[in-house]
Amino acid sequence: MNSDVLVLNFTYEALNITSFQRAVKLIFAGKAEIVHDLDRRIASPSWQMRMPSIIRMLYYIKRPMQKVALTKKNVLLRDDYTCQYCGVRGERMMTVDHVVPRSRGGPSTWENLVCACMRCNNRKNNRSPQDANMSLRRKPKTPKYIPWIQVRRNTLPGEWHKFLFLYNVSIETKLEG
Ligand SMILES: [Zn+2]
Repeated sequence: MNSDVLVLNFTYEALNITSFQRAVKLIFAGKAEIVHDLDRRIASPSWQMRMPSIIRMLYYIKRPMQKVALTKKNVLLRDDYTCQYCGVRGERMMTVDHVVPRSRGGPSTWENLVCACMRCNNRKNNRSPQDANMSLRRKPKTPKYIPWIQVRRNTLPGEWHKFLFLYNVSIETKLEG
């Protein structure tokens, strides 16, 4: 039985994932409310309740800004798997392009890396966008915030999606064990 619970901040942004035991404690302590529950009951001799799937903290949890790791996957996520030159979108066959090519001293930084389809990447080759007469759809920036959530399973409960996609969450799918 899957009993992970998605925890939202007071502002409805995804905070983390917890066990239902911890979620129930937060609810009983008056620190959280249920946003979505499952059609399943959990009970002890003295109480029963529906199994929470999403809870929301009733006060704002401030947390230190997490630095988002500069990885190929995170560049693709920041750009939503959309080629920053032609706008084509696809989860497969996307590459990371150095805007100013490495051969011209272009650094590997958030500001100099964009998602590009293979076609645009090949067409641009070792040229700057100006030389290749290709323009970027938006200026690449360092992402401020990607809540990093590790989900220990293959699939996400459907009701979680609307809270996760809002914040461009990258989901690490890992199986336990
Ligand atoms: Zn393209």
